[in-house]
Amino acid sequence: MINPSWRRVVLKVGSALIAPDNEGCSEQYLRPIAEFIHQCREQGREVILVSSGSVAAGRHHFNFSHQRVPMALKRAMAAVGQNQMMNFWTNCFDFPCAQVLLTHGDLSDRVRHVNIQNTLRRLLDHQVLPIVNENDTIATDELKVGDNDNLAAMVATVVQADALIICSDVKGLYTADPSKDPLATLIPEVNKIDAAIYSLAGGAASAVGTGGMRTKVEAAEKATAQGVDTLIVDGHQLETFECLL
Ligand code: GLU
Repeated sequence: MINPSWRRVVLKVGSALIAPDNEGCSEQYLRPIAEFIHQCREQGREVILVSSGSVAAGRHHFNFSHQRVPMALKRAMAAVGQNQMMNFWTNCFDFPCAQVLLTHGDLSDRVRHVNIQNTLRRLLDHQVLPIVNENDTIATDELKVGDNDNLAAMVATVVQADALIICSDVKGLYTADPSKDPLATLIPEVNKIDAAIYSLAGGAASAVGTGGMRTKVEAAEKATAQGVDTLIVDGHQLETFECLL
């Protein structure tokens, strides 16, 4: 559980919640998440949103039915979808939102890292909601973070967040894959991330996102090493958010 007195949170929302059917952005899961962001801000808490979904939201504009999308086409999908996803979020709020697109190269370069940190701080100081994503339109395989779980953990470190909340389409880490094993049970809390935990995480799971449980565990390892409490929650369920405030 995160410390209830948290003040600054990085909230990561996965593609499966943004464009669940690969048919553009859907309100279904985003409205309750937007409501949670509203409530956080009303309580004086700071939120940095890391939103996936550019590729998933842009995909339906391209007549391409194969599961494996070539990189150049993915960049084009991201260029369309990023715009639609930002529009969607912006329309959910009566306060300004800012688009912050990053690459791995930006986070590992000292000067750009400081610039990102300063920009995010200024945005928060002026009550603007930063909405971060990887700059998928220019990202190359060698230089990209590749998944927004790890990107969100890096952002949480940059802004010295108290907590990282990863909203997913699953409730958290299970003792086995819950979609295959009916005896799989949820592990409510992990105190040490080691090889045994990684072996439970397996590979990528969602049909529309890039991550899976493995990248979430990686993100948790990165963030908790910097003192950022990390939670993996089911973004489909309203009650998830009620107990975080
Ligand atoms: N940056 C990718 C996108 O917006 C998502 C990466 C991920 O699913 O973690 O489509």
